[in-house]
Amino acid sequence: MTDPVNRVALVSGGSRGIGRATVLRLARDGFDVAFCYRSGPDAAHALEREAEQLGGGRVVGRRADVSDADSVRELVAFTEERLGPIDVAVTSAGITRDNPLLLMKDEEWRQVMDVNLDGTFHLCRSVVFGMMKRKTGCIVNISSVAGVHGHATQSNYAASKAGIIGFTKSLAKEVGRYGIRANAVAPGFIDTDMTATLSESVRKQMSGSIPLGRFGRPEEVADMVAFLVGAEYVTGAVFEIDGGIVI
Ligand code: NAD
Repeated sequence: MTDPVNRVALVSGGSRGIGRATVLRLARDGFDVAFCYRSGPDAAHALEREAEQLGGGRVVGRRADVSDADSVRELVAFTEERLGPIDVAVTSAGITRDNPLLLMKDEEWRQVMDVNLDGTFHLCRSVVFGMMKRKTGCIVNISSVAGVHGHATQSNYAASKAGIIGFTKSLAKEVGRYGIRANAVAPGFIDTDMTATLSESVRKQMSGSIPLGRFGRPEEVADMVAFLVGAEYVTGAVFEIDGGIVI
């Protein structure tokens, strides 16, 4: 995994936020990168061009819904056809539907599970067979500190992100013998569209409880993903990147 020339990465939720920063970082590191997006083809095409200029590799976006197993199979087939076998998979597609438990609607619970947990399952299952055949591969699943420590009004989100951690550790045990590593990254508050909806007062309050005194940048999470891609002896680990919020 150390020489990225002609290596292929697939990033879900790559059009925005942490996924987008990961696409740019892996392209800069020399990977050919495929990413999926839910909407906004213009932004996706602009990202293809921007990322290609960074590393000289090929970068292709594809519309896909990670909650739909067939859509993910199609995304993986598209990636292999356009770029070749997938060496690295990063699952960054995710949503929130916050509500206190008493008010949580069935669809708020279901949607979050469908995208965050089922989406991770769909993508990992679709890439792992090829990795097993080639006896190499690296999977990085984006969890959350909410999945490790919990977060009020996010029981659905926290459950999905905790599920990703159990899933990732199990996968690491299952496929290590095939030379495949699976790790999870658990970010705290990161400046993306997902946190842009927080009011200024909540942001201030949250920043005050973070020892480093600020939200993280998507690029800082992408640095962690890139580290894990190169960390040949790390598997089944959960790396928190949160400015110290949970100390
Ligand atoms: P974001 O909202 O900026 O981006 C989410 C991405 O997921 C978008 O590209 C969107 O198109 C994609 N997506 C959503 N539903 C999808 C679906 N059904 N199929 C395919 N793609 C879909 O969010 P972000 O902050 O970049 O979050 C990225 C990941 O990091 C998520 O899994 C999120 O839960 C996690 N995370 C974020 C934070 C944070 O503070 N921003 C903290 C912890 C964890």
